[in-house]
Amino acid sequence: MKMVFATGNSGKLREASEILGKGFELVTPAQMGIHEDIPETGTTLKANSQQKADFIWQNCHTDCFADDTGLEVDGLGGAPGVHTARYAGEDKDFDKNMDKLLTELSRKEMEASLMASMGIAPKKNLRRARFRSVITLILDGQRHFFNGVLEGVIARAKAGKGGFGYDPVFIADEFPTVTLAEITEEQKNAVSHRGKALRAMAEFLAGKVGGAA
Ligand code: IMP
Repeated sequence: MKMVFATGNSGKLREASEILGKGFELVTPAQMGIHEDIPETGTTLKANSQQKADFIWQNCHTDCFADDTGLEVDGLGGAPGVHTARYAGEDKDFDKNMDKLLTELSRKEMEASLMASMGIAPKKNLRRARFRSVITLILDGQRHFFNGVLEGVIARAKAGKGGFGYDPVFIADEFPTVTLAEITEEQKNAVSHRGKALRAMAEFLAGKVGGAA
């Protein structure tokens, strides 16, 4: 089944191809002649994911899907959330984003431990976090939504060379001694937010097209 995946992120494309398998031929916006940045101006993951998929549908009239992912950190009140890609600036630099996250979280932990030592507030795990993905699929012009969540904690320092984005600072509950950048792509895909959302989409498509997906 041929579909446009509305992403310019090679890490996402690689993961999606691996997760969806041979039944899917994924085409990028660039391969469809779309070279500009797809707008992402929504205030929720769902709105952004829908905006990206709508943009492809309006420009190509081809079945397509888009994902929008956010990292929610408890100690930062759920931030960076919908601002995950641009947390440290418009250049979407992975290293700057992770550095800002680690710095902000250390600062919050110091404040919290001071408050706890004064008996003002109970100690909580501020590093508890989750990745959340929302996929919008547009099939024959109709939208369908799929979600996936990966629970874990934020590491104290970056570790590992695999994956992309915030992987070097995220420790999934399923692999508690290493970051996502230190496990194989297969291991990550088996538990990840995007893996769950993509598998839900693939199951839906298999039902729709009589198992051909
Ligand atoms: P977007 O969904 O492309 O807007 O991604 C939001 C931000 O989350 C970007 O900084 C991505 O690099 C990051 N991100 C998305 N998925 C993952 C993942 O699986 N691991 C680590 N970072 C991710």
